[in-house]
Amino acid sequence: MSRNTLREARTKIVATVGPACEDEKILAELVIQGVDVFRINAAHGKQEDFARILSKIRSVREQVGFPVAVLLDLAGPKIRLGQLVQDPLEVDVGQELSFIRGNQANEPHELTSNYTKLIDEVGVGDRVMLADGTISMQVTEKTKDSLRCVVNVRGTIRSRQGINLPGVSLSVSSMRPEDVENALWAARNDIDFISLSFARSAQDVASLKNLLASMDANAMVIAKIEKREALTCLEEIVDAADGIMVARGDLGVEIDVAETPVAQKRIIQVCREKMKPVIVATQMLESMHHNRRPTRAEASDVANAILDGADACMLSGETAIGEYPVIAVETMNRIMLYTEQMLKDQTAAPQPKSAGRVHPITSAVTYHAANIAESIDAKLVVVATHSGGTAWVKSKQRNYIPTLGVSDSDHTLRRMCLFWGIMPHKVERLVSPETLIADVTQWGKSTGILSVGDRVVYVTGTGVLDQTHNLLLVHEVPRD
Ligand code: PEP
Repeated sequence: MSRNTLREARTKIVATVGPACEDEKILAELVIQGVDVFRINAAHGKQEDFARILSKIRSVREQVGFPVAVLLDLAGPKIRLGQLVQDPLEVDVGQELSFIRGNQANEPHELTSNYTKLIDEVGVGDRVMLADGTISMQVTEKTKDSLRCVVNVRGTIRSRQGINLPGVSLSVSSMRPEDVENALWAARNDIDFISLSFARSAQDVASLKNLLASMDANAMVIAKIEKREALTCLEEIVDAADGIMVARGDLGVEIDVAETPVAQKRIIQVCREKMKPVIVATQMLESMHHNRRPTRAEASDVANAILDGADACMLSGETAIGEYPVIAVETMNRIMLYTEQMLKDQTAAPQPKSAGRVHPITSAVTYHAANIAESIDAKLVVVATHSGGTAWVKSKQRNYIPTLGVSDSDHTLRRMCLFWGIMPHKVERLVSPETLIADVTQWGKSTGILSVGDRVVYVTGTGVLDQTHNLLLVHEVPRD
């Protein structure tokens, strides 16, 4: 049971774990079909549930021989309805409902929430959206203890549904106590990526990073862009985070849905400039919850995210609760492969760039390694990397020669699961360029990826893992 690296797209696939795929056999099949990162959504479940899923993922890593990474998605300050007296409650246009203080509704038209300051911070004229934006209300009257709202768009309200307040600036803190607890759990359990929902400022990202630093945690912090406030200080958030998620589910409610395609392009562009990995999320293959085939529009959505420059695309309900989780991943991988083939034919030479923490020598050597690989028609580029920084630079140069990111660190291997075009490859120890070449040659021949006479370009340090990567080596696969 292993994954065919030659059939895997450069663009990474993040898949959400849920009841539809929690079985170990299905998780393994998802990895074989192309999942690079599993997302555990902390909004659903408790730490014992996360631990159960994590232990299955660890077992799948062994079974499939692929270092699939894990992302814990913190729920963040998501505001939710409390318990309704009548649940579900059908509401019609013109109907009046009232938010009241406390957590006890007494009448069917009364609503409560898990945010105690809701009534203080929302004003007359503000919009209140429920059920992923499908129900819209407007505040018409405010008293000391209540907010009267009138329904503009009808629908069905259920207890604990999410509440979006487009354009309202809330004083809620960026992490609730349960987010802090879950972040600490992630730190103790060696989780690779932690995403922060509803990030509003660079400071929100810094708070999570500080918390993780206090635990000596390795996790990369992904800021979810889903508030207008985040768009207004996007550059600062991208600088502060290790990666970004275009969280289109909530973003498409917090801003006009008509604005989201342009917002997506802008977010990806800023991430490209600042060389940060970016994930496009939500409703990518939505109809595959119940269908074996996506709509044409969904296939185009995945393709367009790649054309925009996304590093990864995410599946949510499609894999978590859908009827066809494996087919959804296989389909996404197939769309990616076709799209990348077109891009490959068009791509101009990559530009040398240096990302903050990567040495300029590493950047320049990596850039020219890719050029040399193109001009000698190399089969493979191999990047030996300790922190993953060199692989990250190579990834952002968008070169289509298959690239192995070789490391002896499990953390780094899993981190590379989010880096576009990098296939993580484990070696026991990185000792010298000679042992690296011997290891890759043997692996390449045994998997059929390399044959006698194939050229491979290696980027390493003279001591393999020196501070800078200053050794560029071209090797031809010899006869045994
Ligand atoms: C989103 O809003 O698009 C998202 C990914 O977050 P969640 O699934 O937590 O709503």
